[in-house]
Amino acid sequence: MEIEIATIGGYEEVGRQMTAVRAGDDIVVFDMGLNLSNVLIHDDIRTEQMHSLDLIDMGAIPDDRIMNDLEGDVQAIVPTHGHLDHIGAISKLAHRYDAPIVAAPFTLDLVKEEIQDEGKFQVQNDLIEMDAGETMPIGDRCELEFVNVTHSIINAINPVLHTPEGAIVYGLDKRIDHTPVIGDPIDMKRFREIGREGQGVLCYIEDCTNANKKGRTPSEAVARSQLRDVMRSLEDYDGGIVATTFSSHIARVTSLVEFAEEIGRQPVLLGRSMEKYSGTAERIGAATFPNDLGMYGHRKSVDRAFKRIMNEGKENFLPVVTGHQGEPRAMLTRMGRGETPYELDDGDKVIFSARVIPEPTNEGQRYQSERLLGMQGARIYDDVHVSGHLSQEGHYTMLDALQPQHVVPAHQSMKGFSGYVDLAAKQGYNLDRDLHVTSNGNVIQLV
Ligand SMILES: [Zn+2]
Repeated sequence: MEIEIATIGGYEEVGRQMTAVRAGDDIVVFDMGLNLSNVLIHDDIRTEQMHSLDLIDMGAIPDDRIMNDLEGDVQAIVPTHGHLDHIGAISKLAHRYDAPIVAAPFTLDLVKEEIQDEGKFQVQNDLIEMDAGETMPIGDRCELEFVNVTHSIINAINPVLHTPEGAIVYGLDKRIDHTPVIGDPIDMKRFREIGREGQGVLCYIEDCTNANKKGRTPSEAVARSQLRDVMRSLEDYDGGIVATTFSSHIARVTSLVEFAEEIGRQPVLLGRSMEKYSGTAERIGAATFPNDLGMYGHRKSVDRAFKRIMNEGKENFLPVVTGHQGEPRAMLTRMGRGETPYELDDGDKVIFSARVIPEPTNEGQRYQSERLLGMQGARIYDDVHVSGHLSQEGHYTMLDALQPQHVVPAHQSMKGFSGYVDLAAKQGYNLDRDLHVTSNGNVIQLV
């Protein structure tokens, strides 16, 4: 059986992920993501109304015209998890394929919301929910399996396409976490089995976000304990404390809510995306929050909540807000500019339970946000966080578990791949033979 891999997007950047695997006449598409930074550099752009081709030209979504070169039918579109760089282009591209979107429950709900918000295209693909550990047939001779993995969003999976020539493991995005706070630990046992059963692993496509980092990415339990340490140290502070993190990081938001109560403060989630992700997680039963937890998304209800906090005394509350990257229109940045009813005083605390995504736009915006907060006297607790992506020892462990015949580094730029190329070369892979460093818009012929 002929096996080809089309590296469509996310092979020159972190963002707009999309990969297609053709096995005989059947094609499976993994991820259809958005490169948000290529959208944000344009002022006030509304992608909901934009055409795919314009977004492709901007470098915002994958250029999927290369799909015409693959001879076969798309049988499934499979987003691995709910981050926008993996699902953000579904509303712009999926309608071109006569295939269902297959995803884990939380991911599928976020995909539904993307489709509902879309203003230009009608996405009417079937939506199929599939849990980790489950499988579905692809054509007559292949099978799709979801393996549970751990990442900075709940319900992440790594899809595996079992073909007569061996398994194709699509390894984006994950870290190896045995104590993930919410959800099950990564299923390393299953990865080891897949590496050894039948024809073994024909190809492994790997998340190289942190491939240049030595050592091991710690568990979410470590971030949780760092966060508890910071918050317990502020237990006696009788002024304002504000926290921010990735809205989609449900485990972290849960920890913030829990520790707020532990130090006698009422947590309140503020900002559109805070309300969206936590609301969705609660609705599908993936997370449980206290009954009286306030979640406010709309500008007016957020301002009302801030007024209540100021009236009842900000020492009684922990607002958890958007704006961890210093996004100009996010809640924390607005607070820094004095645009909300919440007043920061000298000595008030701001906890960033996030890392700055190392990219000039983010770095600049975050710098400005911190300066604005600092000018009002706020004390900053930065980087109370661990990454959701494997570092080098995790990559080593995965190669050891899967023993793939071919590897394809993904989810980075050429510079970002270098750490992985080094590591794979030391494990006996060769650039001319079975280690495929590639870019967007290429097709690799494996069999
Ligand atoms: Zn991700």
